[in-house]
Amino acid sequence: MAYSYDPTNIFARILRGEIPNKTVIETAHTLAFEDIRPSAPVHVLVIPKGPYVCFDHFASEASDEEIADFNRATADICRKLGLSPGAGGQGYRILSNAGDHGHQEVPHYHLHLLAGRPLGPMLAR
Ligand code: 5GP
Repeated sequence: MAYSYDPTNIFARILRGEIPNKTVIETAHTLAFEDIRPSAPVHVLVIPKGPYVCFDHFASEASDEEIADFNRATADICRKLGLSPGAGGQGYRILSNAGDHGHQEVPHYHLHLLAGRPLGPMLAR
């Protein structure tokens, strides 16, 4: 696989502390912060600290420790924000854009965690 990571992207700059963010959770390998242009009452971006471009890059090349940390951190956010349906929350949506057709704007892998209102069908037809 041939991904090249651009270290000047905005999330790399957030990770280096060059741009402020509203942090929701930070772990050894993961940072989660509020989206600057929220699409829902809850709109959290979850990013690995490592230099991965998109989902398949991360899932194929990150270490097991990074992948576990990222997934556990995301679950912790769901619990922390009271979103987990299994714990009485009203649910959420997770999505990740990749590449041109996925309409990815920032080339550092991230999940969008959306919640806080009924989110409607997954895609506009
Ligand atoms: P993408 O289209 O790449 O999946 O999503 C990128 C997201 O990053 C967008 O929802 C956009 O609002 C968010 N974003 C872009 N620049 C910044 C920033 O400087 N700070 C924060 N917190 N979010 C940003």
